[in-house]
Amino acid sequence: MPDKETYDLIVVGSGPGGYVAAVRAAQLGLKTACVEKSSRLGGVCLNVGCIPSKALLDSSEYYHLARDHFAGHGIKTGKVGLDLAAMMVRKDNVVGELTANVRKLLEGNGIAIFHGTARLAGNGAVEVIPEEGKAFTVKGTSILLATGSAPVEVPGLAFDGERIVSSTEALAFDAVPKALGVVGGGYIGLELGSVWMRLGAKVTIIEMLPKIAASLDGQVGRTLDRILRKQGLTMRLKTRVKEAKSTAKKVKVTLENEGAEETMTFDRLLVAVGRRPLTAGLGLEELGVETDPATGQILVDASYHTNVEGIYAIGDLTPGPMLAHKASAEGIAAVECIAGRAGEVNYDTIPAVVYTWPEVAAVGLTEEEVKKRGIPYCVGTFPFSGAGRARCMGEKDGFVKLISHGKTDRILGVHIIGPRAADMIAECVLAMEFGASSEDIARTVHGHPTFAEALQEAAMAVRKCSIYAS
Ligand SMILES: Cc1cc2nc3c(=O)[nH]c(=O)nc-3n(C[C@H](O)[C@H](O)[C@H](O)COP(=O)(O)OP(=O)(O)OC[C@H]3O[C@@H](n4cnc5c(N)ncnc54)[C@H](O)[C@@H]3O)c2cc1C
Repeated sequence: MPDKETYDLIVVGSGPGGYVAAVRAAQLGLKTACVEKSSRLGGVCLNVGCIPSKALLDSSEYYHLARDHFAGHGIKTGKVGLDLAAMMVRKDNVVGELTANVRKLLEGNGIAIFHGTARLAGNGAVEVIPEEGKAFTVKGTSILLATGSAPVEVPGLAFDGERIVSSTEALAFDAVPKALGVVGGGYIGLELGSVWMRLGAKVTIIEMLPKIAASLDGQVGRTLDRILRKQGLTMRLKTRVKEAKSTAKKVKVTLENEGAEETMTFDRLLVAVGRRPLTAGLGLEELGVETDPATGQILVDASYHTNVEGIYAIGDLTPGPMLAHKASAEGIAAVECIAGRAGEVNYDTIPAVVYTWPEVAAVGLTEEEVKKRGIPYCVGTFPFSGAGRARCMGEKDGFVKLISHGKTDRILGVHIIGPRAADMIAECVLAMEFGASSEDIARTVHGHPTFAEALQEAAMAVRKCSIYAS
Protein backbone atom coordinates (compact mmCIF):
# COMPACT_ATOMS: atom_id res chain seq x y z
CA MET A 1 0.00 0.00 0.00
CA PRO A 2 1.60 3.34 -1.06
CA ASP A 3 2.11 5.91 1.64
CA LYS A 4 2.34 9.71 1.38
CA GLU A 5 3.89 10.17 4.85
CA THR A 6 7.53 10.95 5.51
CA TYR A 7 8.72 8.96 8.50
CA ASP A 8 11.43 9.92 10.95
CA LEU A 9 12.66 6.34 10.76
CA ILE A 10 12.13 3.41 8.42
CA VAL A 11 13.24 0.09 9.90
CA VAL A 12 13.92 -2.64 7.31
CA GLY A 13 13.38 -6.09 8.85
CA SER A 14 11.24 -7.09 11.82
CA GLY A 15 13.57 -9.52 13.64
CA PRO A 16 14.67 -8.95 17.24
CA GLY A 17 16.89 -6.13 15.97
CA GLY A 18 14.28 -4.41 13.82
CA TYR A 19 11.09 -4.74 15.86
CA VAL A 20 12.78 -3.79 19.13
CA ALA A 21 14.37 -0.77 17.41
CA ALA A 22 10.98 0.24 16.00
CA VAL A 23 9.27 0.08 19.40
CA ARG A 24 12.07 2.07 21.07
CA ALA A 25 11.88 4.65 18.26
CA ALA A 26 8.14 5.06 18.79
CA GLN A 27 8.72 5.44 22.56
CA LEU A 28 11.16 8.26 21.78
CA GLY A 29 8.52 10.00 19.68
CA LEU A 30 9.87 9.11 16.23
CA LYS A 31 7.27 8.54 13.54
CA THR A 32 8.27 5.02 12.55
CA ALA A 33 7.60 2.51 9.77
CA CYS A 34 8.76 -1.09 9.55
CA VAL A 35 9.16 -2.96 6.25
CA GLU A 36 9.16 -6.76 6.37
CA LYS A 37 9.29 -9.07 3.37
CA SER A 38 7.76 -12.06 5.14
CA SER A 39 4.07 -12.23 5.98
CA ARG A 40 5.09 -13.05 9.57
CA LEU A 41 6.90 -10.59 11.80
CA GLY A 42 9.67 -11.56 14.22
CA GLY A 43 12.50 -12.52 11.85
CA VAL A 44 14.67 -15.60 12.02
CA CYS A 45 14.64 -15.60 15.82
CA LEU A 46 10.91 -16.05 16.26
CA ASN A 47 10.10 -18.00 13.10
CA VAL A 48 13.02 -20.33 12.34
CA GLY A 49 15.64 -19.69 15.01
CA CYS A 50 15.76 -19.18 18.78
CA ILE A 51 12.10 -19.82 19.56
CA PRO A 52 11.21 -22.94 17.52
CA SER A 53 14.58 -24.52 18.39
CA LYS A 54 14.03 -23.92 22.10
CA ALA A 55 10.44 -25.19 21.88
CA LEU A 56 11.75 -28.45 20.37
CA LEU A 57 14.65 -28.61 22.82
CA ASP A 58 12.19 -28.31 25.71
CA SER A 59 9.74 -30.85 24.29
CA SER A 60 12.45 -33.37 23.42
CA GLU A 61 14.01 -32.93 26.85
CA TYR A 62 10.64 -33.69 28.51
CA TYR A 63 10.34 -36.80 26.31
CA HIS A 64 13.84 -37.91 27.26
CA LEU A 65 13.17 -37.27 30.98
CA ALA A 66 9.87 -39.16 30.88
CA ARG A 67 11.47 -42.08 29.07
CA ASP A 68 14.77 -42.34 30.91
CA HIS A 69 14.68 -40.37 34.16
CA PHE A 70 11.22 -40.30 35.73
CA ALA A 71 11.62 -43.83 37.08
CA GLY A 72 14.65 -42.65 39.07
CA HIS A 73 12.35 -40.11 40.80
CA GLY A 74 9.85 -42.86 41.61
CA ILE A 75 7.40 -41.85 38.88
CA LYS A 76 5.76 -44.63 36.87
CA THR A 77 4.71 -43.41 33.45
CA GLY A 78 4.07 -46.69 31.67
CA LYS A 79 5.24 -46.85 28.08
CA VAL A 80 6.27 -43.40 26.91
CA GLY A 81 5.50 -42.69 23.27
CA LEU A 82 6.29 -39.92 20.82
CA ASP A 83 3.72 -37.95 18.83
CA LEU A 84 6.03 -35.92 16.61
CA ALA A 85 3.18 -34.24 14.73
CA ALA A 86 1.73 -32.94 18.03
CA MET A 87 5.18 -31.76 19.13
CA MET A 88 5.51 -29.79 15.89
CA VAL A 89 2.02 -28.30 16.26
CA ARG A 90 2.92 -27.15 19.76
CA LYS A 91 6.14 -25.55 18.46
CA ASP A 92 4.20 -23.83 15.66
CA ASN A 93 1.66 -22.55 18.20
CA VAL A 94 4.41 -21.05 20.35
CA VAL A 95 5.87 -19.35 17.26
CA GLY A 96 2.40 -18.18 16.14
CA GLU A 97 1.61 -16.63 19.52
CA LEU A 98 4.91 -14.79 19.72
CA THR A 99 4.89 -13.47 16.16
CA ALA A 100 1.30 -12.28 16.60
CA ASN A 101 2.46 -10.52 19.73
CA VAL A 102 5.14 -8.65 17.75
CA ARG A 103 2.42 -7.36 15.42
CA LYS A 104 0.37 -6.20 18.42
CA LEU A 105 3.45 -4.50 19.86
CA LEU A 106 4.17 -2.61 16.65
CA GLU A 107 0.55 -1.66 16.07
CA GLY A 108 0.10 -0.69 19.71
CA ASN A 109 3.03 1.70 19.38
CA GLY A 110 1.57 3.31 16.26
CA ILE A 111 4.23 1.89 13.92
CA ALA A 112 3.24 1.57 10.25
CA ILE A 113 3.89 -1.95 8.93
CA PHE A 114 4.56 -2.53 5.23
CA HIS A 115 4.96 -6.03 3.82
CA GLY A 116 7.29 -6.43 0.85
CA THR A 117 10.96 -6.68 -0.07
CA ALA A 118 12.76 -3.42 0.62
CA ARG A 119 15.45 -1.85 -1.49
CA LEU A 120 17.26 1.41 -0.82
CA ALA A 121 16.23 3.92 -3.46
CA GLY A 122 18.40 6.87 -2.36
CA ASN A 123 17.45 10.25 -0.83
CA GLY A 124 15.71 8.71 2.17
CA ALA A 125 13.49 6.51 0.03
CA VAL A 126 12.88 2.79 0.35
CA GLU A 127 11.25 0.95 -2.51
CA VAL A 128 8.94 -1.81 -1.31
CA ILE A 129 8.10 -4.70 -3.62
CA PRO A 130 5.10 -6.60 -2.24
CA GLU A 131 4.44 -10.26 -3.11
CA GLU A 132 1.37 -9.13 -5.00
CA GLY A 133 0.59 -5.76 -6.47
CA LYS A 134 2.75 -2.82 -7.49
CA ALA A 135 5.99 -1.63 -5.94
CA PHE A 136 5.74 1.57 -3.89
CA THR A 137 8.01 3.97 -2.06
CA VAL A 138 8.22 4.83 1.64
CA LYS A 139 10.12 7.99 2.61
CA GLY A 140 12.07 8.57 5.78
CA THR A 141 14.71 10.83 7.31
CA SER A 142 16.68 7.87 8.67
CA ILE A 143 16.76 4.24 7.55
CA LEU A 144 17.80 1.41 9.84
CA LEU A 145 18.78 -1.83 8.09
CA ALA A 146 18.06 -4.97 10.13
CA THR A 147 17.66 -7.66 7.48
CA GLY A 148 19.57 -10.31 9.42
CA SER A 149 21.30 -13.36 8.00
CA ALA A 150 20.85 -16.62 6.08
CA PRO A 151 22.55 -20.02 6.41
CA VAL A 152 25.89 -20.40 4.65
CA GLU A 153 25.77 -22.89 1.79
CA VAL A 154 28.86 -25.08 1.39
CA PRO A 155 30.09 -25.78 -2.15
CA GLY A 156 29.15 -29.38 -3.02
CA LEU A 157 26.53 -29.44 -0.23
CA ALA A 158 23.81 -27.32 -1.79
CA PHE A 159 20.56 -27.29 0.19
CA ASP A 160 17.86 -29.32 -1.55
CA GLY A 161 15.29 -28.91 1.22
CA GLU A 162 14.82 -32.69 1.53
CA ARG A 163 18.05 -34.63 2.15
CA ILE A 164 20.60 -31.82 2.51
CA VAL A 165 18.98 -29.21 4.67
CA SER A 166 19.52 -26.05 6.69
CA SER A 167 18.35 -25.44 10.27
CA THR A 168 15.01 -24.22 8.91
CA GLU A 169 14.05 -27.66 7.57
CA ALA A 170 15.65 -29.43 10.55
CA LEU A 171 13.10 -27.62 12.75
CA ALA A 172 10.26 -29.27 10.89
CA PHE A 173 11.16 -32.85 9.89
CA ASP A 174 7.96 -34.89 9.54
CA ALA A 175 9.62 -38.05 10.87
CA VAL A 176 12.58 -38.82 13.10
CA PRO A 177 15.51 -39.63 10.79
CA LYS A 178 17.14 -42.96 11.67
CA ALA A 179 20.55 -41.48 10.90
CA LEU A 180 21.17 -37.74 10.90
CA GLY A 181 24.48 -36.20 9.86
CA VAL A 182 25.19 -32.70 11.14
CA VAL A 183 27.91 -30.72 9.41
CA GLY A 184 29.19 -28.16 11.92
CA GLY A 185 29.72 -28.56 15.66
CA GLY A 186 28.64 -25.02 16.55
CA TYR A 187 25.68 -24.20 18.77
CA ILE A 188 23.01 -24.66 16.08
CA GLY A 189 24.35 -28.11 15.09
CA LEU A 190 24.68 -29.23 18.70
CA GLU A 191 21.22 -27.99 19.69
CA LEU A 192 19.38 -29.50 16.73
CA GLY A 193 21.54 -32.63 16.93
CA SER A 194 20.46 -32.97 20.58
CA VAL A 195 16.77 -32.58 19.67
CA TRP A 196 16.82 -35.39 17.11
CA MET A 197 19.07 -37.61 19.20
CA ARG A 198 16.64 -37.37 22.13
CA LEU A 199 13.80 -38.26 19.78
CA GLY A 200 15.62 -41.40 18.64
CA ALA A 201 17.93 -40.49 15.73
CA LYS A 202 21.51 -41.70 15.54
CA VAL A 203 23.28 -38.37 15.21
CA THR A 204 26.82 -37.80 13.91
CA ILE A 205 28.40 -34.37 14.29
CA ILE A 206 31.02 -33.70 11.60
CA GLU A 207 33.39 -30.88 12.54
CA MET A 208 36.45 -29.67 10.66
CA LEU A 209 38.16 -28.27 13.77
CA PRO A 210 39.68 -30.47 16.48
CA LYS A 211 36.89 -29.42 18.89
CA ILE A 212 33.19 -28.63 19.01
CA ALA A 213 31.84 -25.17 19.94
CA ALA A 214 35.30 -23.71 19.35
CA SER A 215 34.64 -20.31 20.92
CA LEU A 216 33.93 -21.80 24.38
CA ASP A 217 36.45 -21.85 27.20
CA GLY A 218 38.55 -24.99 26.52
CA GLN A 219 37.73 -26.72 29.80
CA VAL A 220 34.01 -26.13 29.27
CA GLY A 221 34.15 -27.23 25.62
CA ARG A 222 35.92 -30.49 26.52
CA THR A 223 33.35 -31.21 29.24
CA LEU A 224 30.47 -30.54 26.84
CA ASP A 225 32.06 -32.87 24.27
CA ARG A 226 32.40 -35.65 26.86
CA ILE A 227 28.82 -35.25 28.16
CA LEU A 228 27.26 -35.15 24.69
CA ARG A 229 29.18 -38.26 23.63
CA LYS A 230 27.93 -40.00 26.79
CA GLN A 231 24.39 -39.02 25.80
CA GLY A 232 24.89 -40.72 22.42
CA LEU A 233 26.09 -38.08 19.95
CA THR A 234 28.89 -39.35 17.71
CA MET A 235 31.61 -36.75 17.19
CA ARG A 236 33.80 -36.83 14.08
CA LEU A 237 36.35 -34.08 14.68
CA LYS A 238 39.07 -32.86 12.28
CA THR A 239 36.77 -34.21 9.61
CA ARG A 240 35.44 -32.47 6.55
CA VAL A 241 32.73 -33.44 4.11
CA LYS A 242 34.30 -33.89 0.72
CA GLU A 243 31.20 -34.80 -1.19
CA ALA A 244 27.53 -35.56 -0.65
CA LYS A 245 25.20 -37.34 -3.04
CA SER A 246 21.46 -37.47 -2.45
CA THR A 247 19.18 -40.23 -3.62
CA ALA A 248 15.41 -40.35 -3.15
CA LYS A 249 15.68 -41.50 0.48
CA LYS A 250 19.31 -41.18 1.57
CA VAL A 251 22.36 -38.99 1.38
CA LYS A 252 25.76 -40.59 0.93
CA VAL A 253 28.61 -38.54 2.31
CA THR A 254 32.35 -38.84 1.71
CA LEU A 255 34.33 -37.73 4.75
CA GLU A 256 37.99 -36.89 4.95
CA ASN A 257 39.89 -37.14 8.21
CA GLU A 258 43.59 -36.32 8.12
CA GLY A 259 44.00 -37.76 4.62
CA ALA A 260 41.84 -40.86 5.18
CA GLU A 261 38.51 -41.12 3.35
CA GLU A 262 35.36 -42.83 4.48
CA THR A 263 31.72 -42.88 3.36
CA MET A 264 28.69 -42.64 5.60
CA THR A 265 25.02 -42.80 4.70
CA PHE A 266 22.39 -40.67 6.43
CA ASP A 267 18.68 -40.17 6.03
CA ARG A 268 19.24 -36.43 6.26
CA LEU A 269 22.24 -34.14 6.37
CA LEU A 270 21.91 -30.87 8.29
CA VAL A 271 24.48 -28.30 7.21
CA ALA A 272 24.99 -25.76 10.00
CA VAL A 273 28.36 -24.16 9.37
CA GLY A 274 27.42 -20.56 10.02
CA ARG A 275 25.35 -17.71 8.69
CA ARG A 276 26.03 -14.81 6.34
CA PRO A 277 24.59 -11.29 6.40
CA LEU A 278 21.53 -10.90 4.19
CA THR A 279 22.36 -7.89 2.05
CA ALA A 280 21.65 -9.14 -1.49
CA GLY A 281 19.16 -6.95 -3.31
CA LEU A 282 19.21 -4.17 -0.70
CA GLY A 283 20.88 -1.78 -3.14
CA LEU A 284 23.96 -1.21 -0.96
CA GLU A 285 26.42 -1.11 -3.88
CA GLU A 286 24.40 1.50 -5.78
CA LEU A 287 24.42 3.85 -2.78
CA GLY A 288 28.03 3.04 -1.88
CA VAL A 289 27.27 1.56 1.57
CA GLU A 290 30.54 0.07 2.75
CA THR A 291 30.73 -3.64 3.60
CA ASP A 292 33.54 -5.89 4.81
CA PRO A 293 34.79 -7.67 1.67
CA ALA A 294 35.66 -10.83 3.67
CA THR A 295 32.43 -11.25 5.65
CA GLY A 296 29.88 -9.19 3.76
CA GLN A 297 28.92 -7.44 7.02
CA ILE A 298 27.87 -3.80 6.84
CA LEU A 299 30.45 -1.52 8.47
CA VAL A 300 29.11 0.97 11.00
CA ASP A 301 30.54 3.46 13.50
CA ALA A 302 29.81 3.57 17.24
CA SER A 303 26.38 5.09 16.48
CA TYR A 304 25.52 2.27 14.01
CA HIS A 305 25.75 4.81 11.19
CA THR A 306 27.08 3.48 7.88
CA ASN A 307 29.32 5.61 5.67
CA VAL A 308 26.18 6.88 3.88
CA GLU A 309 24.29 9.75 5.53
CA GLY A 310 21.03 8.67 7.17
CA ILE A 311 21.57 4.91 6.75
CA TYR A 312 22.17 2.77 9.84
CA ALA A 313 22.60 -0.99 10.34
CA ILE A 314 22.38 -3.45 13.26
CA GLY A 315 22.05 -7.11 14.23
CA ASP A 316 23.32 -10.05 12.18
CA LEU A 317 24.12 -7.61 9.37
CA THR A 318 26.94 -6.01 11.35
CA PRO A 319 30.12 -7.36 13.02
CA GLY A 320 29.86 -9.16 16.37
CA PRO A 321 28.14 -12.31 17.55
CA MET A 322 25.05 -13.31 15.56
CA LEU A 323 22.68 -13.41 18.52
CA ALA A 324 19.17 -12.12 19.07
CA HIS A 325 20.00 -10.20 22.25
CA LYS A 326 22.94 -8.51 20.53
CA ALA A 327 20.59 -7.44 17.71
CA SER A 328 18.01 -6.07 20.18
CA ALA A 329 20.60 -4.21 22.24
CA GLU A 330 21.98 -2.64 19.07
CA GLY A 331 18.47 -1.77 17.88
CA ILE A 332 17.82 0.19 21.07
CA ALA A 333 21.25 1.85 21.05
CA ALA A 334 21.04 2.80 17.34
CA VAL A 335 17.62 4.39 17.74
CA GLU A 336 18.73 6.28 20.83
CA CYS A 337 21.67 7.66 18.80
CA ILE A 338 19.30 8.60 15.96
CA ALA A 339 17.09 10.41 18.49
CA GLY A 340 20.12 12.35 19.76
CA ARG A 341 20.65 10.29 22.90
CA ALA A 342 23.70 8.34 24.04
CA GLY A 343 22.93 4.78 22.94
CA GLU A 344 25.66 2.22 23.55
CA VAL A 345 26.25 -1.54 23.77
CA ASN A 346 28.95 -3.09 25.95
CA TYR A 347 30.37 -5.81 23.69
CA ASP A 348 32.52 -7.18 26.53
CA THR A 349 29.47 -8.44 28.39
CA ILE A 350 27.29 -10.08 25.76
CA PRO A 351 26.37 -13.52 27.09
CA ALA A 352 26.45 -16.60 24.85
CA VAL A 353 24.36 -19.69 25.54
CA VAL A 354 24.25 -23.20 24.09
CA TYR A 355 20.89 -24.79 24.93
CA THR A 356 22.06 -28.39 25.05
CA TRP A 357 21.43 -30.30 28.27
CA PRO A 358 23.28 -29.47 30.35
CA GLU A 359 23.26 -25.90 29.15
CA VAL A 360 26.41 -23.90 28.56
CA ALA A 361 26.55 -20.16 29.20
CA ALA A 362 29.43 -17.76 29.15
CA VAL A 363 30.31 -14.10 29.41
CA GLY A 364 33.64 -12.31 29.08
CA LEU A 365 37.06 -13.77 28.40
CA THR A 366 37.94 -17.46 28.31
CA GLU A 367 41.01 -18.72 30.15
CA GLU A 368 42.78 -19.13 26.79
CA GLU A 369 42.06 -15.49 25.89
CA VAL A 370 43.24 -14.20 29.26
CA LYS A 371 46.50 -16.16 28.88
CA LYS A 372 46.99 -14.95 25.31
CA ARG A 373 46.60 -11.33 26.43
CA GLY A 374 49.11 -11.87 29.24
CA ILE A 375 46.63 -10.72 31.92
CA PRO A 376 47.45 -11.98 35.43
CA TYR A 377 44.45 -14.01 36.58
CA CYS A 378 42.96 -16.31 39.21
CA VAL A 379 40.42 -19.07 38.60
CA GLY A 380 37.77 -20.50 40.90
CA THR A 381 35.70 -23.52 39.90
CA PHE A 382 32.91 -25.38 41.63
CA PRO A 383 31.16 -28.56 40.43
CA PHE A 384 27.37 -28.85 40.38
CA SER A 385 27.77 -32.20 42.13
CA GLY A 386 28.52 -30.10 45.24
CA ALA A 387 25.30 -28.07 44.99
CA GLY A 388 22.37 -29.44 46.98
CA ARG A 389 19.76 -28.28 44.48
CA ALA A 390 21.53 -29.96 41.58
CA ARG A 391 21.58 -33.22 43.54
CA CYS A 392 17.83 -32.92 44.28
CA MET A 393 17.25 -32.61 40.56
CA GLY A 394 19.64 -35.46 39.74
CA GLU A 395 21.78 -33.10 37.63
CA LYS A 396 25.34 -33.46 38.82
CA ASP A 397 27.23 -32.86 35.57
CA GLY A 398 29.14 -29.65 34.98
CA PHE A 399 30.69 -26.79 36.89
CA VAL A 400 31.02 -23.02 37.23
CA LYS A 401 34.35 -21.42 36.36
CA LEU A 402 35.03 -17.84 37.32
CA ILE A 403 38.11 -15.98 36.11
CA SER A 404 39.15 -12.77 37.84
CA HIS A 405 42.06 -10.35 37.47
CA GLY A 406 45.10 -11.52 39.44
CA LYS A 407 45.71 -8.08 40.95
CA THR A 408 42.37 -6.26 41.11
CA ASP A 409 40.08 -9.33 41.43
CA ARG A 410 37.74 -7.75 38.85
CA ILE A 411 35.76 -10.47 37.08
CA LEU A 412 37.07 -11.13 33.57
CA GLY A 413 34.84 -14.02 32.56
CA VAL A 414 32.42 -16.65 33.82
CA HIS A 415 31.82 -20.00 32.12
CA ILE A 416 29.08 -22.34 33.25
CA ILE A 417 28.19 -25.81 32.07
CA GLY A 418 25.31 -27.26 34.00
CA PRO A 419 21.60 -27.12 34.73
CA ARG A 420 19.98 -23.69 34.18
CA ALA A 421 23.29 -22.12 33.11
CA ALA A 422 21.35 -19.93 30.66
CA ASP A 423 19.53 -18.22 33.50
CA MET A 424 22.46 -18.18 35.92
CA ILE A 425 24.66 -16.21 33.52
CA ALA A 426 22.49 -13.09 33.95
CA GLU A 427 23.93 -12.48 37.43
CA CYS A 428 27.45 -12.71 36.00
CA VAL A 429 26.65 -10.28 33.18
CA LEU A 430 25.28 -7.79 35.69
CA ALA A 431 28.30 -8.26 37.95
CA MET A 432 30.65 -7.56 35.04
CA GLU A 433 28.61 -4.52 33.95
CA PHE A 434 29.08 -3.13 37.46
CA GLY A 435 32.79 -3.96 37.43
CA ALA A 436 32.33 -6.41 40.30
CA SER A 437 35.09 -8.52 41.82
CA SER A 438 34.90 -12.23 42.59
CA GLU A 439 34.71 -11.22 46.25
CA ASP A 440 31.54 -9.21 45.52
CA ILE A 441 29.83 -12.39 44.29
CA ALA A 442 31.37 -14.47 47.08
CA ARG A 443 29.95 -12.11 49.74
CA THR A 444 26.51 -11.79 48.09
CA VAL A 445 24.00 -13.98 49.91
CA HIS A 446 22.51 -16.52 47.49
CA GLY A 447 19.29 -18.40 48.21
CA HIS A 448 19.54 -22.00 49.34
CA PRO A 449 19.22 -24.49 47.77
CA THR A 450 19.76 -22.99 44.32
CA PHE A 451 22.01 -23.59 41.33
CA ALA A 452 23.37 -20.08 41.83
CA GLU A 453 25.09 -21.25 45.00
CA ALA A 454 27.57 -23.01 42.70
CA LEU A 455 28.47 -19.58 41.30
CA GLN A 456 28.98 -18.19 44.80
CA GLU A 457 31.18 -21.17 45.68
CA ALA A 458 33.23 -20.73 42.47
CA ALA A 459 33.70 -17.07 43.43
CA MET A 460 34.81 -18.15 46.92
CA ALA A 461 37.17 -20.67 45.35
CA VAL A 462 39.04 -17.84 43.62
CA ARG A 463 40.45 -16.91 47.06
CA LYS A 464 40.59 -20.56 48.14
CA CYS A 465 37.78 -20.18 50.63
CA SER A 466 35.01 -22.28 49.08
CA ILE A 467 33.08 -23.87 51.93
CA TYR A 468 32.04 -27.03 50.09
CA ALA A 469 35.00 -27.69 47.76
CA SER A 470 36.70 -30.92 48.66
C1 LIG B 1 18.27 -22.42 14.48
C2 LIG B 1 18.69 -21.12 15.11
C3 LIG B 1 18.66 -20.97 16.48
C4 LIG B 1 19.04 -19.78 17.07
N1 LIG B 1 19.01 -19.68 18.43
C5 LIG B 1 19.38 -18.53 19.02
C6 LIG B 1 19.32 -18.39 20.43
O1 LIG B 1 18.92 -19.32 21.15
N2 LIG B 1 19.67 -17.22 20.98
C7 LIG B 1 20.12 -16.17 20.21
O2 LIG B 1 20.44 -15.13 20.78
N3 LIG B 1 20.18 -16.27 18.88
C8 LIG B 1 19.82 -17.41 18.26
N4 LIG B 1 19.84 -17.50 16.90
C9 LIG B 1 20.32 -16.34 16.13
C10 LIG B 1 19.22 -15.28 16.01
O3 LIG B 1 18.08 -15.86 15.43
C11 LIG B 1 19.71 -14.11 15.18
O4 LIG B 1 20.92 -13.63 15.72
C12 LIG B 1 18.69 -12.99 15.18
O5 LIG B 1 17.46 -13.41 14.65
C13 LIG B 1 19.20 -11.78 14.38
O6 LIG B 1 18.25 -10.78 14.44
P1 LIG B 1 18.13 -9.66 13.31
O7 LIG B 1 17.05 -8.74 13.76
O8 LIG B 1 19.46 -9.10 13.01
O9 LIG B 1 17.70 -10.43 11.99
P2 LIG B 1 16.59 -11.52 11.66
O10 LIG B 1 15.99 -12.12 12.86
O11 LIG B 1 17.24 -12.41 10.66
O12 LIG B 1 15.44 -10.68 10.97
C14 LIG B 1 15.63 -10.09 9.73
C15 LIG B 1 14.28 -9.82 9.10
O13 LIG B 1 14.48 -9.02 7.94
C16 LIG B 1 13.62 -9.49 6.90
N5 LIG B 1 14.22 -9.10 5.63
C17 LIG B 1 15.36 -9.56 5.05
N6 LIG B 1 15.60 -8.92 3.89
C18 LIG B 1 14.59 -8.02 3.73
C19 LIG B 1 14.28 -7.04 2.73
N7 LIG B 1 15.08 -6.84 1.69
N8 LIG B 1 13.17 -6.32 2.90
C20 LIG B 1 12.35 -6.49 3.97
N9 LIG B 1 12.60 -7.39 4.93
C21 LIG B 1 13.71 -8.13 4.83
C22 LIG B 1 13.59 -10.99 7.10
O14 LIG B 1 12.45 -11.58 6.51
C23 LIG B 1 13.56 -11.08 8.64
O15 LIG B 1 12.24 -11.08 9.12
C24 LIG B 1 19.45 -18.69 16.26
C25 LIG B 1 19.46 -18.80 14.87
C26 LIG B 1 19.08 -20.00 14.30
C27 LIG B 1 19.08 -20.12 12.79
